[in-house]
Amino acid sequence: MKKEEICEIFLQRVGKSLTTNEPLANHCHFQIGGPADFFFVATKEEEMLAVVNLARECDLRFRVIGGGYNILFDDRGYRGLIIKNGLRKIQRVDSYRIMVHSGTELAELITFGQDFSLAGLEFLAGIPGTVGGAVYGNAGAFGHDIGECVESVRLLNRSGEIIEIEPPHLQFSYRWSSLKNSQDIILSVKLKLKPGEKEALKAKISEILKQRRNKLPSPTLPSGGSFFKNPLLPSGRKIAVAPLLEQVGAKGLRVGGAAVSQAHANFIYNLGGATAQDVLKLASSLKERIRRRFGLELEEEVIFLPEDA
Ligand SMILES: Cc1cc2nc3c(=O)[nH]c(=O)nc-3n(C[C@H](O)[C@H](O)[C@H](O)COP(=O)(O)OP(=O)(O)OC[C@H]3O[C@@H](n4cnc5c(N)ncnc54)[C@H](O)[C@@H]3O)c2cc1C
Repeated sequence: MKKEEICEIFLQRVGKSLTTNEPLANHCHFQIGGPADFFFVATKEEEMLAVVNLARECDLRFRVIGGGYNILFDDRGYRGLIIKNGLRKIQRVDSYRIMVHSGTELAELITFGQDFSLAGLEFLAGIPGTVGGAVYGNAGAFGHDIGECVESVRLLNRSGEIIEIEPPHLQFSYRWSSLKNSQDIILSVKLKLKPGEKEALKAKISEILKQRRNKLPSPTLPSGGSFFKNPLLPSGRKIAVAPLLEQVGAKGLRVGGAAVSQAHANFIYNLGGATAQDVLKLASSLKERIRRRFGLELEEEVIFLPEDA
């Protein structure tokens, strides 16, 4: 089917047109990535359901993204449809439970918790991106992760059904959820929080933001956050990867337009004009250095999306 025909079908069935040849560099923090054949921003749940179900019906490859803070797109772009999640809403369910739509920014969620004196989300302060992206990868910091607060997740599954599942099935662990192995779309998330005190929450959030400012490179640098996960030793103990990378001389290393931050050895950023290949080559040379020196196999935290994934 020609691109124009696909666009016409989506316009008729979804009521909103797809964009074609959209540069993905505009939709990820790395500012890297070629054109997506098709691109769509879903701002209502009905649109998300219609567009995903229609993509499946038409056998059109697709991927839902949030803020693009954990993704590295391919230089060749994406041969299919990228759906940007714009489903934003937060509602109180009862005294300590809230329901949040998956496209809501984490920053908005944290402010909501603070304003309604609900504690439990403060450790997420400063982590960019959406609730959907955070639940998908079980985002976290300071020894906590979002999975701890999740009571249930509403998903659109591969059969086109909306189902609600609870944490045992989500298998949350360090930067992992079972959603990474499924093609389910996160629609909304129910979070269980604790009673808090507004001023104390505000102070805790400011403290966390201060610690992040002292520890991490500027969040405005185009990157995907920590590039590698902290490795797990055979004993099950997790060790910080940044000091290991420092010991193998990672800081300041460059390939093309990609460089390792001088402030934090686990941040690869785009100096300007970097390609995904530059980033991947640099990452591969870091992995090789760690393998040779420590016998450890690093695993990427940043998700590379090949053009035909
Ligand atoms: C400066 C900086 C600092 C960071 N600090 C941290 C940190 O401290 N801790 C941490 O854990 N992370 C950190 N990150 C990484 C990033 O912020 C998190 O991974 C965040 O959760 C990504 O959310 P996103 O909406 O941008 O997801 P995206 O990058 O858009 O997507 C990530 C993955 O989730 C999938 N996905 C997104 N939404 C949905 C959905 N609704 N349904 C199904 N799948 C979906 C995408 O397909 C993709 O595979 C940092 C990143 C940067 C740039």
